[in-house]
Parts: sequence; C-alpha cells; structure tokens
Amino acid sequence: MSSPAAPQPKPWIDAIAPYVPGRSSTDGGGKAVKLSSNENPLGTSPAARAAFVAAAESLDRYPDASAVKLREAIAALHGLDPARVIYGTGSDEILHLAAGAFAGVGDEVLFVRYGFSVYPIAARRVGATAVEAPDVGYATDVDALLAAVTERTRVVFLANPNNPTGTFLPRAELLRLHAALPAECLFVLDQAYYEYVDEAEDDGGFELALDAPNVLVTRTFSKIHGLAAERIGWGYGPARVIAAMHKIRAPFNVTTAGQDAAIASLRDPQFIAASRDHNARWRAWLEAEIATLGNAGLRAVPSHANFVLVLFEGRLTAEQAYSGLMAHGYITRWLPGQGLPQALRISIGTEPDMRGLIAALRSLVDGAA
Ligand SMILES: *Cc1c(COP(=O)(O)O)cnc(C)c1O
Repeated sequence: MSSPAAPQPKPWIDAIAPYVPGRSSTDGGGKAVKLSSNENPLGTSPAARAAFVAAAESLDRYPDASAVKLREAIAALHGLDPARVIYGTGSDEILHLAAGAFAGVGDEVLFVRYGFSVYPIAARRVGATAVEAPDVGYATDVDALLAAVTERTRVVFLANPNNPTGTFLPRAELLRLHAALPAECLFVLDQAYYEYVDEAEDDGGFELALDAPNVLVTRTFSKIHGLAAERIGWGYGPARVIAAMHKIRAPFNVTTAGQDAAIASLRDPQFIAASRDHNARWRAWLEAEIATLGNAGLRAVPSHANFVLVLFEGRLTAEQAYSGLMAHGYITRWLPGQGLPQALRISIGTEPDMRGLIAALRSLVDGAA
C-alpha cells in the first residue's frame, strides 16, 4: 500500500495494464530465435543502413523538427499532401497523440476485442474510458463496433490488418463502418502491416483520409521497413486533426538518423518487395504446416500480416507450446493478458527459423499425444 503522503498517480493511470513487449531471450537466457515482435527477418534495406551510419556526422545537431524531407518523400510515394503528414516516435506515439488530442475524462475510446494492446493504454492515459466491442471469429465485427458507439465515443481505433489476429477488414466493410460513425468521432485506421496486404485487397484507407474530415491513417517504419530500433512512424489526416496533434507531440520526436534511414528505405522498393514476397511465401507455408496439425487441435487464423495467430484447441495447450518452443530456442508471443490464453502469435522468420519452429512444434505435439 502506498503512503497517503506520497504522490498519487491519477486513478486512470493506476488502472493501466502495462504494455508487454515481445521477449528477446529465452528463460535460460540462451541464444534464441525471436518470433515475438513481428520484425523483418530480412533486416533493413542496405540504403537505409547507410543513411543511418552517415547521420553520425551530425550527432551534435537537433533533428529537423518539421521533418520536411521525410514528409515530402512519404507524400510523393503515396500521392498525399505533405502538409497533412504527421510523424512520430513510432506510430505508437501517433496513436497516443490521437487519443490525447481528441479524448479525455468522460469520453469513450472504442476498439475491437483482440485489438492492438496500445489502444486501451492510449485511452486510459488521457482519462478516457476504453470500450471493447466483441469480435466475430477473431475478426472485426462492424455491427458490434457500431452497436458500441455512444454519444461519448470520440475515437475509434481499428488496425487493418489487425494485431494479434492478422485478420483483415475488406474495403466495403470498412467504408460501411466509417459511413455509420458519427462525424465527431475520429476514426483511426492503423495500417502498421499494410505493406503485407495484397494490392488487390486495398481497404481504401488513404482515399477516405484524403477527403473525410474524421479519418486518420497511420503507418510505421518498424515492420516491413525493418527500422524498429529507430522508432519512426507517420500518419495522414485532415489538416485540423494534424494541427491538434502537432500541438502535443514532443518538439524533436523523430531522430535525424531515423528520418534519413526512413527516406532511404522509401527509395528502396526492391527491399520492400523482397520482404513482402518472403513473407507471403513463408506465411502460406506456416499456415499449411499448421493445417497438417489440425487433428491435434491446432488451427491458424488466416493472416494478412507478417505473423500468424495459432489456436491450440487440443491436448497440447498454448501455454505448453509456448514454454516448449522456448526450450527449443524459439520465442513466440503467448497472449493470456489479451484474453487469448489459447493462442500463440508467431512472427514470420527466415526459412531456417520457420522449418526449425515447425519441427519443434511437431515434437511437442507428439509428446503431448
Ligand atoms: C507494431 C504496431 C504498431 C506500431 O509500432 P511502432 O513501432 O510504434 O511504429 C502500431 N500498430 C500495430 C497494430 C502494431 O502491431
């Protein structure tokens, strides 16, 4: 119990369940294959790495606080207005800025069950109430989300594809959701895994953000660009939304090395294409391998991202698989804290990572039979 004379955190801060990052070492501290944070197994574009190294020449200078070159590079690539691009210390910061600028005490922030774990933290941090709508088969249920909207709803977060489920809300459903949301609700479309989605499946997010007064799309350099260590993300939205977020972001929130590396990565479409191809191939392989373990109660939720959520509905539990894989040197993400004690989220790794993981999983399944 804390003493009454000590500083007391605000009750809504006390209520936050801290974010749990993916582990990078095994229980024994041994060398391990990290498949717990959805990082790029191909690493980083060589051009981005070179830009990062070159930035060491200007360590004594503050970064460009308005990230002009980065915004222009992003806007040119996606056909957007650079003035409406915002950047953040990871897209996590953008999510916090959205909640901070548009919600507060007495307001509600809405998202789907098994959504990204940062959403409830971003809501509670500003004193707002986090509201979870039921899913349908681990995917977004537009009707359930709409049924949970009240006159207090100020922000709706939706990750597409979603993390940790990997599910994707098709364009027609996304447009139906947006059309039925109250105009005073900010709709934040989190596209952290968008580069992994087939081009034919465009959810229409940018198109919506170009004209709608209440849509913010967010992207990150942490996933397919392989720049997670640099903490850099961005968002695109209406000028008024972007202006409000700029007021509360940290003044120099993106480093020089991060800006330079991100720009170089945007100019290396080959690396992105290779990363996407690798992911598509090994994700399909992993899903097919899991399907062969169906009689042992394993099942993959069909994924559109760079990870697969595997459900354990037989004798081998997800918890046993998690620690068994750990003992074999494979770190996956077990998610009891997110209401998914029956599931492991497994990031797509290199070919040896994937083959080794499946071999280990087969031995665990056999051991439990
Ligand atoms: C990884 C992830 C992010 C952002 O990560 P940053 O490293 O902060 O850019 C945002 N949303 C979802 C759903 C993610 O999985």
